Amino acid sequence: MLTNRLNLVVLSSLTTHVLSLAVKRAEPDRSNVVEFAKITDPTQECAPYWYPPSDNYPQFPTTWGVANIVAGDTAAQNKWNEIKGKIPNTPPKGVNGDFSNVQYDNSKDPDCWWTATGCVTPKLAGIAPDVARIPEPLSVGYGFDDGPNCSHNAFYDYMVQKNQKATMFFIGSNVINWPLQAQRALYDGHEICAHSWSHSSMTSLSSEQAFAEIYYTVQAIKSVAGVTVTCWRPPYGDTDDRIRAIVNALGLSTVLWQYDSDDWKGGAQVDTNYKTFIGQAKGGEFSKQGTIYLQHEIDEFTMGKAMEYYPSMKDAFKYMVPVAVALNKTHPYAEAEVEFPTFDEYISGTVRKPLPDSALSYLGLTATPPSSASSSPSNSATGASTSTSTTASSGASPSSPPSSSPVSTPTAPATPTSTRAATNTVPPSTPTQPSKPKPGKTMQSFINWLIGGLKRWGF
Ligand SMILES: [Zn+2]
Repeated sequence: MLTNRLNLVVLSSLTTHVLSLAVKRAEPDRSNVVEFAKITDPTQECAPYWYPPSDNYPQFPTTWGVANIVAGDTAAQNKWNEIKGKIPNTPPKGVNGDFSNVQYDNSKDPDCWWTATGCVTPKLAGIAPDVARIPEPLSVGYGFDDGPNCSHNAFYDYMVQKNQKATMFFIGSNVINWPLQAQRALYDGHEICAHSWSHSSMTSLSSEQAFAEIYYTVQAIKSVAGVTVTCWRPPYGDTDDRIRAIVNALGLSTVLWQYDSDDWKGGAQVDTNYKTFIGQAKGGEFSKQGTIYLQHEIDEFTMGKAMEYYPSMKDAFKYMVPVAVALNKTHPYAEAEVEFPTFDEYISGTVRKPLPDSALSYLGLTATPPSSASSSPSNSATGASTSTSTTASSGASPSSPPSSSPVSTPTAPATPTSTRAATNTVPPSTPTQPSKPKPGKTMQSFINWLIGGLKRWGF
């Protein structure tokens, strides 16, 4: 009898312990982008997680290392073999973005090196000029570099609340590390462009490395989000005709900027930069042609500044639009079924087109979210527009992926001796590569321990 009572006490205390541990170990739902978008704790957003469909991804270079063609990747090797004959045989410039020893004649600028002269029109035939401004007056091309940042839910929620879309220039390494965060950009109706694999200065790399940096970033976005991007922005703006030729051969256009918030530097100067830019807009600087402003989703500071100054920018500019919308590029991805609104549609309130079922299916979702053209209030609750009506098909594996304007010279070109590129190395929020914990492993081992314990205690 005493033994039975003791067993009961032990069982009772064990159960309490189990319950308290279970509560402590409750993990947010990271099964799909809709559930992930509901996470509001930045620490939980940035906790490494394993995304099951990633098991089916092709091999990628080591994250945050300079990309090279992965050994045995015949698709990448064949693509490089196919295009390398079209790439100018000019040597790389400088070392890791340090151009202080580069002998370069700015006045002649033999191959349109943006870093040296700010030029945006390639001298190589057959390549379109970079986009650094947008044609529509009183407009700004709204976009953010260096994402997906792991803790961007609050910022993306803010844009949902404002019915605002933007262009996201994603780093391949971030896309692989944070797949659900990357998917959120597509799901929310933002435009996704590439921004290299490791955020290196591209003109310092060999042509094959530059190819791999861009190729694998495009592949990463395609593997994670199911869309093939057709635009990119070079880190630090560092591009020349050799890099443009590689980009062009991969079917991408180059998007630069005209004004720079320098938000990644932090400090009071960032406020000055925002206020100056907004003041220029109010002063009529863009009354004849719109512009593009460089901002980042690197960290809480830069995203916070974007939200802080959003109302003022909205007030200063008549229209704030993604770059694709500004250019009336209604099919920004190779998958033609994914559509974007025209500029006129956007400013009339249709800020996005619904994602096709094929795209939703790729994200492991089964229901079509309503177009935010209707500005449905349900869009603003969690950032993921249909958190109640969109359901995830559990355990979904990826299905098949859903099948310029002239610009002027940026006003503040860097010089070849600038150390700007060298100082902004890996973005400050660079995560270490997360391990891939198997979901449920912790809880399963805990249950096994519990069962073993019960058996040991004679139950
Ligand atoms: Zn960047």
